[in-house]
Amino acid sequence: MNMHKAPSPSPTFDRLAPAVEIISAFQKSAPVDVDAIAAALGIEVVVDDRLPADISGKIERIGFFGDRYRITVNGRHARTRQRFTIAHELAHYALHRSLIGDGIVDDAMYRSPRGNDIERQANSYAATILMPAPLVRTYYRGGMKDFASMAKTFDVSMEMAQIRMRELRLG
Ligand SMILES: [Zn+2]
Repeated sequence: MNMHKAPSPSPTFDRLAPAVEIISAFQKSAPVDVDAIAAALGIEVVVDDRLPADISGKIERIGFFGDRYRITVNGRHARTRQRFTIAHELAHYALHRSLIGDGIVDDAMYRSPRGNDIERQANSYAATILMPAPLVRTYYRGGMKDFASMAKTFDVSMEMAQIRMRELRLG
């Protein structure tokens, strides 16, 4: 008898669909409301003025059963930076939930003890959360050709807008 084994899920990643679907529902207009995404996912977001300057933020499990999540962002950082941090932590939630454990703390360069691959994935997905390709292309086709206007429209840093437009081969 020929037994077929179901392909086992990747040990590194949780299933993406539910979180990604919820996130995409908030990507129809700019700027993307990362706080609303967190709320829709049941994730509490705390802005903490006491975090050291070299910590961008963190995501941790909370609650008696450890089944809820909290994102903390550095209250001393600029709002565009905070938005990126929230998107980065949302990416950890969407992509790396099983690895969060007792928490992932990201330093100023979005490095964590979880390793470079995980952090690169979170940064990359964070960029797509804040600047979804279809929406960026729509604005670009509508005449928004410069990254300064893109940055303002998407409420991200100039640097991020520039990198994202380059990634999407715009401009
Ligand atoms: Zn991270």
